[in-house]
Amino acid sequence: MIPDKILLIVLDGGADRPLMIDGREETPLSSAKTENLDILAEEGISGMMDVISPGIPPGSDTGHLSLLGYDPYKVYTGRGPIEAAGAGIDVKRGDVAFRCNFATLEDGKIIDRRAGRIRETEELAKAIDEEVHLDVDFIFKRSTGHRAALVFRGDGLGGDVTASDPKEDGMQIKESKALKKGSEKTAEILNDFIEQSIRVLSKHPVNEERAKKGLPRANAILTRGAGILPEIERFEERYGLKGAVVAAAGLVIGISRICRLDFVSTEGATGGTDSNVNKKVENALRSLKNHDFVLMNIKGTDEAGHDKNFAKKREFFERIDEAFERLLGLEDTVIAITADHTTSVAIGDHTGDPVPICIHGEGVRSDSINKFDEFNCAKGGLGRIRGRDLMPTLLDLTNRSKKFGA
Ligand code: ZN
Ligand code: ZN
Repeated sequence: MIPDKILLIVLDGGADRPLMIDGREETPLSSAKTENLDILAEEGISGMMDVISPGIPPGSDTGHLSLLGYDPYKVYTGRGPIEAAGAGIDVKRGDVAFRCNFATLEDGKIIDRRAGRIRETEELAKAIDEEVHLDVDFIFKRSTGHRAALVFRGDGLGGDVTASDPKEDGMQIKESKALKKGSEKTAEILNDFIEQSIRVLSKHPVNEERAKKGLPRANAILTRGAGILPEIERFEERYGLKGAVVAAAGLVIGISRICRLDFVSTEGATGGTDSNVNKKVENALRSLKNHDFVLMNIKGTDEAGHDKNFAKKREFFERIDEAFERLLGLEDTVIAITADHTTSVAIGDHTGDPVPICIHGEGVRSDSINKFDEFNCAKGGLGRIRGRDLMPTLLDLTNRSKKFGA
């Protein structure tokens, strides 16, 4: 039987560069005990993938866009719109969006860009939303910790303005300026927003309370990552698939939202190595019942890579692998397991190396690979593909590709 459903599993930053371990070149994935991943590799077809193109280190946002078959060079306009969508704002085409921080302003200077990593920002955000008045419609929403997102909606707005965030403590808030013609109005309104929000926040009871306790006040908003949301074809229109995403990372949720995938939240999913992977797998399997396509992102592997922690990354793979036992014998489904980029533990950041990929399901031409890692997948039958080839491959395996020619 030809499978009908697609499960795309992204082990975020899961690929790595080798280190010498006991006289052998190993990566966290190759040195981990991953019985279930290896069974999937044995039964499926493996290969390597350049998520964007060879040598280009993708961000999680541009990487996921590419895996979903969108051209990041066309649809990616900066982190603002993605973060705003991730924070739960319904960002629309033409909206200008910014990433924001609550910060501490004293004597005209920013003394803490994160306002003591404040968490209780709900009332402050509400006050801004209610008491700031601008020449355009705007939405201001808190996100995790000291972070927030801001969206301007209206005519004559451009997305090319400079950040007001001085990016280091001890500096004044920068006046935002237009970088291109057509963005002057945006810069002007943004400066107005920043000024008004200082007035609103400074007299807010939450800040008076914080000052009494000797905590840094959250009395200013810093903005960066301005971008205008372009036209992005809905995932369902593009592929005829009803899609969902199971993820905890803000950027991945944001990408999924702008492509209009249904977001399924998971209790205990943290985006770190302490995440509840079992619950995520359970949610992904449940979501497959009423969706044709499910993207499950597991973020902790990237975190361990940024932390330069080989053992933590390896151990997390072993935990993931345990949870993947439930994927064995999954019927009517093509499973693709891959990463959105390499996050090298040696470097502590993303690199442009290709990532391993395994595709499993009925009808897949299996190869001789029986271990899922960077070294073995490089010898697999899928060869080397690009991120943009993935969706067509999965559509074909579920019999949804249209014949080209007669
Ligand atoms: Zn990533
Ligand atoms: Zn990362």
